[in-house]
Amino acid sequence: MEIIRATHLGMCFGVRDAIALAQTHAALQPITVLGQLVHNEDVLADLKVRGVRVAKEPKSVETAVAMITAHGASDHFKDQARKQGLSLIDATCPLVKSAHRALQNLVARGYYPVIIGQRDHVEVKGLSGDLMEFQVVLTSDEVRAVPERPRYGVISQTTQPIARVRSLVEQLKEVHPQSEVEFVDTVCQPTKLRQQAAQALAEDCDVVIVVGGAQSNNTRELVRTCGLRGATVYHVQRPEDLSPAWFENATKVGLTAGTSTPDATIQSVAAQLDAWCHDKLITSNSPTTTAILAFS
Ligand code: SF4
Repeated sequence: MEIIRATHLGMCFGVRDAIALAQTHAALQPITVLGQLVHNEDVLADLKVRGVRVAKEPKSVETAVAMITAHGASDHFKDQARKQGLSLIDATCPLVKSAHRALQNLVARGYYPVIIGQRDHVEVKGLSGDLMEFQVVLTSDEVRAVPERPRYGVISQTTQPIARVRSLVEQLKEVHPQSEVEFVDTVCQPTKLRQQAAQALAEDCDVVIVVGGAQSNNTRELVRTCGLRGATVYHVQRPEDLSPAWFENATKVGLTAGTSTPDATIQSVAAQLDAWCHDKLITSNSPTTTAILAFS
C-alpha cells in the first residue's frame, strides 16, 4: 500500500496565529474565547487545560479579557463586548479582515451584498452582522431567491471551494441578466491550495483519509471534493477512528487534513497508516513524484 500526502494540508497560518495568541495571553491572565477558537476538539481540550474559557456571548464572560476568534466578528458584536467592560484581543485572520473590507467597499459603492457561504457559520455572521440588508446563498435555489436589485456585490466565506463560488456567481448573473454583478474573490489562499491538492490526491488514490474536526467546514469541504473525484473518502478526527478494513483492497491511500488540524494529529494518523504498511512502505510528498522506501 502506498501512502501519499497532499502537497498542501493541515493547519493554516490564521489558525496557528490565533492559537499562539490565546496561549500567550492565557499565560498572563484569565481569558475567555468568544466562540470556538478552532473547530478541533484536541486543540480546544489543550486550551482548556491552559485555563482558556469559552463563552458564546459577551454577557456570559466572567473574565476581564475576551478573545475574538480567527473567524472574525462584526463591529456590532465587538462594540457590545466593549460596552460590557471587556478588553478584547482580536485574533481575526488577516484574510477574513480582507473579506470584511471587500464587503464594506462594495456596500459603500451601492452594491447589494450577497455572501456565498453557510448562513449559520460564525464567519458569515461576522461578515453580515453590520449590514442592514443582505443575502446569504449556498445553493441554486437560494440564488434564485435573491431579490431583484440593479447591482449585486458578491463575496464568499473564506473556506468555500472556489469552483462552487464561481458557479454560484454565474448563476446569479443568469437569474438577473439585467443587473450588474461585481464579484470579489475572498476565498483564502490556504483553502485554495488545500482544495487543489485534495483534488489531485483523490484523482490519484483509491482511498483518501481526511483528518479534521467534525465541526470544521473546510474539512468537510475537503471530504466533499475528494468524494466528487471518485475516491472512497473517510473523515477521521484521530487515529483511533481508522479501520484496517478500509484499506484491504487499496493500493494508493491519500492523506489530507483541514486548516484547523494540528500537525501532531496528522502525524499520529500517518503513523497508524504506516504501521499497517508492514511489507513495503511507499511515501510521497506529491501525487506526481513518488519516493520508494522499502522495509524488510
Ligand atoms: S482558513 Fe483561511 S481565512 Fe480561515 S484562518 Fe485559515 S488562512 Fe485565515
